[in-house]
Amino acid sequence: MTLLQISEPGRSPEPHQRRLAAGIDLGTTNSLVATVRSGGPVTLPDSAGHHLLPSVVHYRKGAPPLVGEEARRHLATDPQNTISSIKRMMGKGSADITGSGQRLPYRLVEGDSAVPRLHTAGGEFSAVEISAEILRALRRRAEQSLGGELYGVVITVPAYFDDAQRQATRDAARLAGLNVLRLLNEPTAAAVAYGLEQGAEGIYVVYDLGGGTFDVSLLRLSRGVFEVLATAGDTALGGDDMDLLVARWIMRQAGIGDDAGHHQLRRLLAAARGAKEGLTTAGSVSLEVELEGGGRWRGQLSRSRFEQLVEPLIKKTLAPCRRVLRDASVAADQVREVILVGGSTRAPLVQRLVGEFFGKEPLDGVDPDRVVAIGAAIQADILAGNKPDQEMLLLDVTPLSLGLETMGGLVEKVIPRNTPIPVSRAQEFTTYRDGQTAMAIHVLQGERELVSDCRSLGRFELRGIPPMVAGAARIRVTFQVDADGLLSVSAREETKGVEASIQVKPSYGLTDSEIEQMLKDSLAHASEDVAARTLREQQVEADRVLEALKTALDEDGESLLDSGERTAIEEAMEELRGAREGSDAREIKRAIKRLEQRSQAFAARRMDAGIKRALQGHALEEVAGPAGR
Ligand code: ADP
Ligand code: MG
Repeated sequence: MTLLQISEPGRSPEPHQRRLAAGIDLGTTNSLVATVRSGGPVTLPDSAGHHLLPSVVHYRKGAPPLVGEEARRHLATDPQNTISSIKRMMGKGSADITGSGQRLPYRLVEGDSAVPRLHTAGGEFSAVEISAEILRALRRRAEQSLGGELYGVVITVPAYFDDAQRQATRDAARLAGLNVLRLLNEPTAAAVAYGLEQGAEGIYVVYDLGGGTFDVSLLRLSRGVFEVLATAGDTALGGDDMDLLVARWIMRQAGIGDDAGHHQLRRLLAAARGAKEGLTTAGSVSLEVELEGGGRWRGQLSRSRFEQLVEPLIKKTLAPCRRVLRDASVAADQVREVILVGGSTRAPLVQRLVGEFFGKEPLDGVDPDRVVAIGAAIQADILAGNKPDQEMLLLDVTPLSLGLETMGGLVEKVIPRNTPIPVSRAQEFTTYRDGQTAMAIHVLQGERELVSDCRSLGRFELRGIPPMVAGAARIRVTFQVDADGLLSVSAREETKGVEASIQVKPSYGLTDSEIEQMLKDSLAHASEDVAARTLREQQVEADRVLEALKTALDEDGESLLDSGERTAIEEAMEELRGAREGSDAREIKRAIKRLEQRSQAFAARRMDAGIKRALQGHALEEVAGPAGR
């Protein structure tokens, strides 16, 4: 695969016109802002010296909302007006949220609006508006610290974010008055931070376990170019889930029932989080929880008990790790380094299990909390044009395969999933029927073999194909995905040069969990799919042979065959029709072969009689899908 330069407009300001640029890690749990100073990239602290801004917004009546640590203090006492983990709602519809079964402490505004809004003391707000508050706070921090207005920012998003979620992030930035130079996948940003500092070529794993999401990416760094080889993850797995496990443990110990109120739950989660974080350095921590009916519960949690509780959860992250290795055909021992990202990777058990899985100690040179923001800042600095000679390229990958429908409801993959973008791939198809002058192109996304199991992205028709015998036309279909993930598909008939095309958004409307589900399905159904595909292919082939022979018999049967020859062919056709109805692909194949043997002489005579005659009477436009090569 050749690497394509991603060009960015407006990249060459004068050296003294250094533009103020920042990288923003807009996290589920914590957010950060970083910038490149003369001494290198740094995260920016608030006036109290804190670098991490808790991604929490507290709304009040008649006063502007509080953001960050000040807001977090209200989590336990005023949960309905204190919004956390809003990133989980970004780009989601009302149905996604009410259907998720998640128990949210917020009051969703009832109504038929597709975009969910939360009811708070300060008014009703969408996820985009709430995220914009966090971005505004980071913007203020950066502008105060840098002493001027920001020219542009790079904001990071999880690798699995789909179009709707990325768009929501862009909208939030716009609301906050920020110019987004680019959205960057979080693991890629982490690799940027490490890659530039170390400059070592090779394959890297980025393991990112934050508060709410897990992402793992396999990246190749060579000659200053990062190429994303594969990504996988779980959007509903993180430190919050560890907190929940510890909170449940406390509930069991303290005899708190499942009917505990929101206040109590929040307090339990806060206590659980404190205990978890303390256990990174301590072998055991003391816990104290206020009970709803009055009184207190006191207890001890040891590191080993904690590790027993969360081990299954951490082991769940290893399946995506296995998947990225397999997708990129890389063995664990080919991995040069493992980069840890996210606060949850501070837990010693995470470091141990990840280290064991890849057979090497993970890197810890850059603070796992800050590494994403730092990578984003480096990228923002380049995109703002402050490093005109910098040639670092970032490549992304397609999350799912892209292909088109061929006869028999099968999907022919043109661009496999995890192909680095931008990419352009062309494949040749041909006509299925004699005299076919139009072709229906149906563009699909997904991993399964059958059209009915994939997602339809769009359709168009290529018209004006000169009439030819089936299989003679050469239709070149080109799939192109640009750097922003936009797909365009074009089809061109090679002899006459007629063309048609369509532009589609590849992941439009697909939620991250849908993407994951499609990937899981494709693995679960792999062998079943291969069998279904083989059968369909043989059925399509049988139909094609039968249809072609019927046409030939109608046209030339009388003149070119004696009655004995004709009966022999018709018997073999009948036999093939019978096999076609069954579900044994090998039987259909054998019947096709017999029929072809019996009709060989007839075909030769027809050739002699002149193939042109076969085209007469086919002036009517016939539309069919493409046949595989
Ligand atoms: P996100 O990317 O989702 O915003 P972060 O990378 O900031 O998340 O990670 C936040 C998570 O890291 C929280 O669940 C927090 O409890 C957890 N965390 C922070 N420090 C530790 C620690 N020492 N041990 C275990 N988990 C930790
Ligand atoms: Mg993060």
